[in-house]
Amino acid sequence: MASKLEDEFTANPGKWHEQPEGYPPASCYQWLKGHNPQINWRKVVWNGWSLPKHNFMGWIWAHEAMLTNNKLFLYGVTDDNSCQLCGVGSETQEHLIGTKAQKEIQFAMVLCAVYQVWEQRNKCRMKMVLIQPEVLAKGIVNEMRSRIRERDKKQMRIDDLEWLASRNLL
Ligand SMILES: [Zn+2]
Repeated sequence: MASKLEDEFTANPGKWHEQPEGYPPASCYQWLKGHNPQINWRKVVWNGWSLPKHNFMGWIWAHEAMLTNNKLFLYGVTDDNSCQLCGVGSETQEHLIGTKAQKEIQFAMVLCAVYQVWEQRNKCRMKMVLIQPEVLAKGIVNEMRSRIRERDKKQMRIDDLEWLASRNLL
């Protein structure tokens, strides 16, 4: 959506300096910056804890711009598109890092772990018992497995299902 300032400037480009009160800097900045869509990975990639080289690589990854062997193969730079890590299959960004669904599931597991730690902590406090870390870990995996089993598998990609199966989460 164009701002009032943008409309004015577009209609009268030579009148910029003739405005009695000028143009508010914030509006000018917004206009120059444009109306960009909200980027949901911004805080993950540009977090304050990563080294700059990690931030930069994360930015490349978020733009799906990693120069993997399958791209180099398509550009004619190499005649081998196989994965440099495992040698099995075509080296794509998804092959190396995982699909969007896989990353979402991993993040869901972190949240599940936070919940489980707090729940077990409360049980320990109420019942005056200690819980072994293995029991806690099993609880996290079981809860995630139940959640994944509730989901409609027809909506999921076959490589995501294989990824879940390889981690015994189906
Ligand atoms: Zn591989």
